[in-house]
Amino acid sequence: MKKRMKVGLVGASGRMGQEITKILKGTPSFELHLAICRQSSLAEFAYTRAQPSCLEAKEVDLWIDFSSPELLQKTLSVAIKNKTPFVSGTTGLDTKQVSALKRAAKSIPILWASNMSLGVAVLTEAMKVFARVRQFDFQIEEFHHRRKKDSPSGTAKSLQQALENVVGRELPPPLSVRGGGIFGIHKVHAMAEDEHIIFEHSALNRAVFANGAVEAAKWLSLKKKGFYGMRDVLYSETK
Ligand code: NAD
Repeated sequence: MKKRMKVGLVGASGRMGQEITKILKGTPSFELHLAICRQSSLAEFAYTRAQPSCLEAKEVDLWIDFSSPELLQKTLSVAIKNKTPFVSGTTGLDTKQVSALKRAAKSIPILWASNMSLGVAVLTEAMKVFARVRQFDFQIEEFHHRRKKDSPSGTAKSLQQALENVVGRELPPPLSVRGGGIFGIHKVHAMAEDEHIIFEHSALNRAVFANGAVEAAKWLSLKKKGFYGMRDVLYSETK
């Protein structure tokens, strides 16, 4: 019988952590081994710890991280030390933290995505068509629930970067709206004198990110060292 992979879930008590826990419980190839969070104990996991530098971390076969930039960095050090694949959807990273992820990818498999939905990976690919109308005006707009900590969203920043690469110039910064319980809406406006195109992606629930993260984790568990994103999962040959 194939061995079940022991998962370390970083941020397990959070909104995303709880959603991922539900999916992992129904995924036979994964075992809920270690929860890292501020909570004292989570019943679904064999162990709950406040820090990733704990004894049980050595037994983890794969990390899934939806926490904070600070905790991501601590867990990354442990993952490098133990040579463990690392999936992360944590946003709000500064340039040093992004560089640390890319450096780590020289020794372990890493998949980081500011948005784990396949839909946003599709949207990012679709934006390449704007190379044909690069003279248009462009604006990215995002809406999220009022408890979201970072602004603009990580997804808006990634879309902005991708769009600037496509049109070959700097664009006005994303517009952010915070309110209610919105899971995440991202709009890309392309505007000319006589026409207005809007590409829009709406997350209908939090499960879309959690399912994406678990799919990404299964995919990454078969990969060698390197830095991957959801585009790689989207275009993967096994799909
Ligand atoms: P949350 O605040 O509900 O949960 C955060 C979790 O991390 C909690 O379990 C908390 O205990 C833990 N944590 C954070 N810092 C810690 C520390 N220093 N020590 C111990 N525990 C710590 O947040 P959330 O809504 O679940 O989002 C988590 C992250 O995921 C955010 O960065 C968010 O933007 C991102 N996110 C990404 C995607 C995506 O698709 N990539 C989707 C949704 C959210």
